[in-house]
Amino acid sequence: MDFPGVDYLSIDSQFSAQELLVRQTARRFVDERVLPTIRDCYRDARFPSELIPEMAELGFLGANLGAESEQYGCAAMNNVEYGLVMQELERGDSGLRSFASVQGALVMYPILHFGSEEQKKKWLPLLQAGKAVGCFGLTEPDFGSNPAGMRTRAVRDGEGWILNGEKTWITNGSAADVAIVWARTGDGIQGFLIERGAPGFAASDIHDKWSMRASVTSSLSMVDCRLPASAALPGAKGLKSALACLTQARFGIGWGVIGAAMDCYETARSYTVTRTQFDGKPLAGHQLVQEKLAWMITEITKAQLLALHCGRLKDQGRLEAAHVSMLKRNNVSAAIECARLSRDLLGANGITGEYPVMRHLCNLETVKTYEGTDHIHALVIGERVTGIPAYR
Ligand SMILES: Cc1cc2nc3c(=O)[nH]c(=O)nc-3n(C[C@H](O)[C@H](O)[C@H](O)COP(=O)(O)OP(=O)(O)OC[C@H]3O[C@@H](n4cnc5c(N)ncnc54)[C@H](O)[C@@H]3O)c2cc1C
Repeated sequence: MDFPGVDYLSIDSQFSAQELLVRQTARRFVDERVLPTIRDCYRDARFPSELIPEMAELGFLGANLGAESEQYGCAAMNNVEYGLVMQELERGDSGLRSFASVQGALVMYPILHFGSEEQKKKWLPLLQAGKAVGCFGLTEPDFGSNPAGMRTRAVRDGEGWILNGEKTWITNGSAADVAIVWARTGDGIQGFLIERGAPGFAASDIHDKWSMRASVTSSLSMVDCRLPASAALPGAKGLKSALACLTQARFGIGWGVIGAAMDCYETARSYTVTRTQFDGKPLAGHQLVQEKLAWMITEITKAQLLALHCGRLKDQGRLEAAHVSMLKRNNVSAAIECARLSRDLLGANGITGEYPVMRHLCNLETVKTYEGTDHIHALVIGERVTGIPAYR
């Protein structure tokens, strides 16, 4: 019998040949280069940085930054192609997708949209080629969901700037050659490029994480950190510029988590059709098990449709930040539940590293929190449908 796999509704028929080719390329990369080692990386709390040049070579870094980005070497994929790359990377591990999200959406995107020509020419070719790594510092120890309260300050020092403050939970932080750091100035919140080795700037890693173990997470400290005038992103205007980067990144997350959910579903399906209990009957032959599998494939299918529609809207320039909140919130929530159900269906085996589900489940707990928590996206959607902000 021919089973539908993860494409229950023939959604593949909605993708162009080029989109399917990009997905196939990313799928092969993950199968051949990520899956053989990711379990060890996760156990050893190591980001597989040796894969950066290969991801760059395949055009995965800053892949959906539009036609303007081509002059800096970027792939200029459409948003569905990019989404499918994110999906495949996160089928491998959320840490790998996080790396690509930060590099492309949180570092290259602001440089392209808010940077000077000099900043673009210097950094975009290096970042897309994986010869430089970037990070994005918005969150502070006392300001996560509410970055508007940030304490990091930048004050004028002649022509240049002096920054003081601390950022935390920063993906790629200690691995970064360049950090985009957001700070309060006399004219509102502004973005700055801080290069590795800048005086007064330091990064230190956060250890003992039980989630996103194959990803670098760091704190950044700025103590009288002196920057030239050219370090400011001239086009960044207030917190809304930082939030525009987050919208870009959340779009990729909405696609990425589908890959983790697919991996959990496929693991549970193949496990339950082969494992027998009670008189040699496969687990999948029990109604309660089938109900779980039915729930998972239904939610994965809905998540794919939501992502695909958002991708098409984005290509048409019609995707709103509040649409992206629905995409991120719904798809992360569905993926976490798929991971939990998969873990359940695998019984005791589900808690081991032999299967990917516990790793995905632990990773997805981070994905639920970062880039706007589930609650905050509910409030964004709530404001969009009522006109009433309810954050305070
Ligand atoms: C592995 C990892 C990587 C990360 N990478 C980055 C990065 O690269 N750059 C970066 O800047 N940040 C990064 N973050 C930080 C992340 O974006 C924040 O953790 C997130 O914004 C939430 O902030 P918080 O942890 O301070 O939680 P809090 O804001 O303290 O929230 C705690 C809880 O309270 C709820 N809550 C808060 N306010 C409200 C409200 N008004 N109404 C209802 N509920 C509310 C939240 O939903 C949550 O459940 C990362 C985090 C992790 C774990």
